[in-house]
Amino acid sequence: MADFDTPELKEYPVIPHIQEGTMAHSKPFVAKAEFQEALGFPGELVDNWQQVAYDKMEELTGKYRSLAVYLDSCVKCGACTDKCHYYIGTSDPKNMPVARQDLFRKVYRRKFTFAGKYFPKLVGAVDLTKEVLDDWYSYFHQCSQCRRCSVFCPYGIDTAEISMAAREVMDEIGVGQKYCNEIIAKVYKIGNNLGLPKPALVDTLEGLEEDIEDETGVTVRLPVDEKGAEVLVITPSADFFAEPHVDGLMGYAKVFHEAGVSWTLSSAASEAANFGMFIGSYENMRKLSLRIREAALDLGVKRIIFGECGHAWRVAYSFLNTLAGPFDFLDPKYPVPQHIMEFTHDLIQRDALTLDKSANDDMVLTFHDSCNVARASRMGPKPGGQFVLPREVIKASCNHYYDMPQDTIHESTYCCGGGGGLLTDDLMELRVKGALPRMEALKHVVENHGVTHMAAICAICKSQFAKVLPYYGFQMDSIVSVHQLVSNAIVLGNKQ
Ligand code: SF4
Ligand code: SF4
Repeated sequence: MADFDTPELKEYPVIPHIQEGTMAHSKPFVAKAEFQEALGFPGELVDNWQQVAYDKMEELTGKYRSLAVYLDSCVKCGACTDKCHYYIGTSDPKNMPVARQDLFRKVYRRKFTFAGKYFPKLVGAVDLTKEVLDDWYSYFHQCSQCRRCSVFCPYGIDTAEISMAAREVMDEIGVGQKYCNEIIAKVYKIGNNLGLPKPALVDTLEGLEEDIEDETGVTVRLPVDEKGAEVLVITPSADFFAEPHVDGLMGYAKVFHEAGVSWTLSSAASEAANFGMFIGSYENMRKLSLRIREAALDLGVKRIIFGECGHAWRVAYSFLNTLAGPFDFLDPKYPVPQHIMEFTHDLIQRDALTLDKSANDDMVLTFHDSCNVARASRMGPKPGGQFVLPREVIKASCNHYYDMPQDTIHESTYCCGGGGGLLTDDLMELRVKGALPRMEALKHVVENHGVTHMAAICAICKSQFAKVLPYYGFQMDSIVSVHQLVSNAIVLGNKQ
């Protein structure tokens, strides 16, 4: 299956001894010139790349005060060193969060601090040489920007933000990453990550309507570009075809049908994902977000609801209003944006859905908290709602549910191993090894509670798990969408 060894699943998580350089070879493909240029970056490494990089570092540390504070305030206490799934899975010390930060920090010190300018050796400051740049390219693409390390840092230093800055500097000098930049270019050109044009999207949605009618005998619509609908649903394009994502999309459709709320997808904004965040580019994040505003205005909707996508929900919840607002043309009764989990949870609370839990009796469930939902957003009116709402929706849809060990869920959740723009086959070794802590937690509930399936509300997590579960001896279809469970359990036509 692969030219690397899958780590052994242990009964208890073990912090590995360091093995220098074990992942130095891991690098994603570099973006071609056409994809760089589509995003406004140079097509290849510019001649004066060192100076361009320093200028960009100066701009970013001036613009984002948090970045400068993170670079200045680490006291090397070591609390973060064993918290990264990539360190646990690879043993490479440069995957310790503090060491990853230091790749950027040592250049920052050299150029922008008194001590680094005059006594570089004393403070570990270095110039940005080609060798250092190679390390940046490798190890800043071994950070899924999951923010787990920041939870354990006494100063709250966010390695994800440093990794975003490093990627932005690299884009600026012409060495961007193929996977992210090609995808962003596709969204600009066609509307979604997959490059799925409108006729193919319409065809796919009609096929799903037929599937639902065959299964239930009820006509449930999956409309696209329907002017005057109440709700615009922005969902990851993986929902249109990939398993288990598509089962979740059918679940949303059934919930809207049962609620009697008109809704539509948009062919122009047929993608919730915003990979502009992964590459740290405010301009690209903004441009991607503005598609959603334009689609909402064009279709005349009153509400915007996001489907099951982790980082898209972070962008939506935390940044959408400042990136693409104000949304004063929408119905002020509803928050902008909402998550599909909030919509479904509200209906369940009001007893507006009939759910037959026994429809999921062939499964014993657990839930994987996705990083960007868990540590960078919220749901519902109460703190911690992002942990409560999905679990309550799952428990309303099935009879058998168990949580994974406490230190691996909620804000301590482990990344799936494929987030932050790393969900590409050229990083398969990293993805498999980085999934180790989550796989160990899953093994625990499989052995102790007979868990058969893990639910998630992130498209990247679902795709990543479908790929890496078999490496650890689990079935690839043991990952499910939360709205897939709702879809199985919902009894259509039962509520007025
Ligand atoms: S943000 Fe996540 S992936 Fe990046 S260093 Fe911290 S724990 Fe590791
Ligand atoms: S926990 Fe925070 S302060 Fe301590 S070494 Fe890590 S980043 Fe530095």
